[in-house]
Amino acid sequence: MVTKSPLQVWPIPAFDDNYIWCIHDGVSALVVDPGDANPVLDYLESQGLTLTGILITHHHADHTGGIQNLLAYVGTDSLPVYGPASETIPGRTQALMEGDRVECVAPSIVFEVFEVPGHTLGHIAYFAPSAMPKLFCGDTLFASGCGRLFEGTPTQMSQSLAKFAALPPNTAVYCTHEYTLSNIRFALAVEPSNPDLIAWANAAQALRQSNKPTLPTSIAHELRVNPFMRSDQPEVMAAALRESGQSVLPSQAHVLAAIRAWKDRF
Ligand code: ZN
Ligand code: FE
Repeated sequence: MVTKSPLQVWPIPAFDDNYIWCIHDGVSALVVDPGDANPVLDYLESQGLTLTGILITHHHADHTGGIQNLLAYVGTDSLPVYGPASETIPGRTQALMEGDRVECVAPSIVFEVFEVPGHTLGHIAYFAPSAMPKLFCGDTLFASGCGRLFEGTPTQMSQSLAKFAALPPNTAVYCTHEYTLSNIRFALAVEPSNPDLIAWANAAQALRQSNKPTLPTSIAHELRVNPFMRSDQPEVMAAALRESGQSVLPSQAHVLAAIRAWKDRF
């Protein structure tokens, strides 16, 4: 006899450092960015969960590679596969744009869709507003970091991160990679005397030493420790100026561009 539980969000580890987030109520489950079907199927079976939908943030294979095998396993054409309208997503049934809503019945959860170009041009994020808001941000925002700019511009990434910064501070942020410790090493190079960052470095280290995820993070926390969310802070701006060799960085997007380029060669 299966009984429903309160909504849970569980990290299914995949590859070296991906998390496939499973949103479930003890009976029905959604998965976000299943790059690999096998760990998802193992988890669903071990928990007795039925897959009712797949949410995709962007087209990269480590986020989409498991879709076809999950569809084959479920054996139905009716499984919704949500994904960005402007990217090619295998098996996608629902093409999403800015402002769209995704209303899931089982598990019961509603998402608002944000377009967040930068890492890829069509990248979207799923925000579930509630008393305990949740954000599934793909490879746009990481704990103390942000995604590489494979397709978009620094201005686009800066605007995408500004959308996240405007969300409720208690929004739980479910990033898709465990990059936190290396992101923190870089963040400390940008802001060596940020006391929140120093405390977070110790806490994150302890979590990883006991093999625990450092995620989810929160919007409030990222605003305190993530240099890519802090391009308006004097210490971040000064570090960006120093590393870029420019004499002036006229906008937050220029600061972000300088920080991102520094991280890419860090
Ligand atoms: Zn990616
Ligand atoms: Fe990825």
